[in-house]
Amino acid sequence: MGSIRIEGISRKFKNVTAVDDVSMDIRDGDFLVLLGPSGCGKTTLLRMIAGLLEPTAGQILLDDNDITTAPAKRRDVAMVFQNYALYPHLSVAKNLGFPLRVRRVPKAEVAARVDEVAAQLDIAHLVDRKPKELSGGQRQRVAVGRAIVRSPKAFLMDEPLSNLDAKLRTATRRELTDLHRRLGATFVYVTHDQVEAMTMATRIALLNNGRVEQVGTPEQVYDTPASVFVAGFLGSPPMNLLPASVAAADTGVVVSGDGFEARLWPGDCPTRPITLGVRPEHLSPTAEFSGPGLRMPARVDSIENLGSEQIAYCRVGDETVCVRAPRPISLLAGQNVILTAPVDRLHLFDADSGRRLE
Ligand code: ATP
Repeated sequence: MGSIRIEGISRKFKNVTAVDDVSMDIRDGDFLVLLGPSGCGKTTLLRMIAGLLEPTAGQILLDDNDITTAPAKRRDVAMVFQNYALYPHLSVAKNLGFPLRVRRVPKAEVAARVDEVAAQLDIAHLVDRKPKELSGGQRQRVAVGRAIVRSPKAFLMDEPLSNLDAKLRTATRRELTDLHRRLGATFVYVTHDQVEAMTMATRIALLNNGRVEQVGTPEQVYDTPASVFVAGFLGSPPMNLLPASVAAADTGVVVSGDGFEARLWPGDCPTRPITLGVRPEHLSPTAEFSGPGLRMPARVDSIENLGSEQIAYCRVGDETVCVRAPRPISLLAGQNVILTAPVDRLHLFDADSGRRLE
């Protein structure tokens, strides 16, 4: 078992509140990714779970045991650092066995377990080398091996792929997902890379300014973002976000903004300012569209070719709107078009709070 409950955790550094009243349940066997921009508090939260930093408020429970102030080595968790933190003077085998030796595990048992882990991570041929004689990818594996060697309840990883080149990162992503499946253990993984989060996580916790914006599966956070922040953080290019207002009309609820209108569903609603969200891949240039949904006349400013698809940057009123479509796209720079999106692809957020309106 390896469930982690975080209850009202905060951490202040002088006048900076790095983590601000965060609560979440990390379930046994989760691959939970802490995602967010630089400085949002991901590493600080992870270090508090690891026991490397004390919270200024709140509690952390591991399998219902309060570990808030327990020293790092008494917690049944293992951390993989961004720079791997391998001992340079020790061989790979000694590095792998280190967490067991300090726990006074008998020599023969250490050797057997090191062999097992080295085979599991495909580094058996490297066990006699020193860290400086390894490539970045191999060092990364040794760091992961050192974490799994004593079968802890949870693995904590702080951007473990950031020192690898793009190709190796993609391959290692799949290896980590595979390792997670094989071990069946709880992973808590820090990154600012949305692709890593979307591809590896069973659940994503998106942080902003020390606070949790949303926790959910990759599909939930992408398809139903709880706030403007989440909507704008995920997706490449990100969701189009346009100032608008919502009001009831004879035809039903209508959203209007500078140069566009969206007919929603029949019914009533109080007039209020909102932010209208629509993803670039959900907009299309369709002349014959009879809604309900979004309809906006636009002028194509420029087109970017990404190989398999194209991105069109269009002008709607004073805003730039992005459209993503597979090639060949029927748009040309300078062209006037009508962009449309079906009603179930529109996202409405309160203009003041930024929270999603249901
Ligand atoms: P990154 O992706 O850049 O590593 P992060 O999301 O992991 O960012 P943290 O490292 O947790 O963010 O930092 C959160 C905030 O707390 C930042 O504003 C940072 O400057 C501040 N902070 C972190 N550690 C300390 C410290 N030891 N002393 C003072 N301020 C700190």
